[in-house]
Amino acid sequence: LSPAARRPIRELPDELVSQIAAGEVVERPASVVRELVDNALDAGATQVTVRLLAGGVRLIAIEDDGCGIEREQLPLALKRHATSKIGSLADLESVGTMGFRGEALAAIASVSELHLLSRTAGQASAFLLDASSGELRPAARSTGTTVEVKELFFSTPARRKFLKTDATELAHCLEAVRRHALARPDVGFTVWHEGKLVEQWRAGARDQRLADVLGEDFLGDSVAIEHVAGPLRITGRAGIPDAARSRADWQYAYVNGRYVRDKVITHAARSAYEDLLHGQRQPVYVLHLAIDPTRVDVNVHPTKIEVRFRDSREVHQAVRRAVEAALSAPRAGQAAHPQA
Ligand code: ADP
Ligand code: MG
Repeated sequence: LSPAARRPIRELPDELVSQIAAGEVVERPASVVRELVDNALDAGATQVTVRLLAGGVRLIAIEDDGCGIEREQLPLALKRHATSKIGSLADLESVGTMGFRGEALAAIASVSELHLLSRTAGQASAFLLDASSGELRPAARSTGTTVEVKELFFSTPARRKFLKTDATELAHCLEAVRRHALARPDVGFTVWHEGKLVEQWRAGARDQRLADVLGEDFLGDSVAIEHVAGPLRITGRAGIPDAARSRADWQYAYVNGRYVRDKVITHAARSAYEDLLHGQRQPVYVLHLAIDPTRVDVNVHPTKIEVRFRDSREVHQAVRRAVEAALSAPRAGQAAHPQA
């Protein structure tokens, strides 16, 4: 097709629109895990179980004990831009749920074989919706939802080629669950791969969850952060300098419970270690920022992993001070013992 050969403008078919949109949201199995766990948490789940085959490429099944979806609503759940989480611009500006774009299930369904099995507390049975055929029939399960995603990218081989080995994809899936697990110690998480139990984190106290996810040594190798600066509250833990790593892989930052990768936060946290870490040593931390939702825009990236702060200087200063204060507290110098 030469650039001069002008073709008429056409509207793309729905299926293709979803596949294009899926490219932004679903990069690999871990993206599916992230979206489905988000949904489970938004549904009020207290237990989330993840089952994977072949690093998630053959199967990702996520089961929750949340509120479920009514029979009549099941087909809507798979429609693009259909959501129960916001209804207006005002809702969007103060959104408190993980999801709000109404895109994930539609996107995932367009690049996989998706089955949605759900039951609400009020229903006598569960219902199963097959996304490809549209078939909806009664099925068995307790209150909650199971989403099964099979053969990811089977219809888009170009995407499939970018997948790495099963072991690598599994590692990314586990990291996605870890990010959620650190934010929600009140929820139990279980991960199975190829029929084997790979992770089990029981619901409990925040410190216990930190130890479960980042290892028993983490509490002793880190200090508590507790800092309030105007509309911002920062909590979490900062690793002592001796706990620094060669890779920046243990830097977890959350804004209102949402895991984010944010240059302002990363830079601020790193600068708190300025005089303590040299060369390429990377600090370890888990930071939770609680901020008035109207002071942060979470709708800047399809995967919602990036956010924009209304006042990023204020955030930078607060994060830096929070981490500095924690590190200069008496316990920070030596590897103190965790308090139970
Ligand atoms: P969003 O999360 O942005 O609303 P999704 O495509 O992820 O969009 O989900 C669409 C809708 O389906 C949600 O708004 C929710 O009402 C429903 N839903 C999806 N997953 C679950 C779940 N695990 N439990 C209950 N409802 C769900
Ligand atoms: Mg969602």
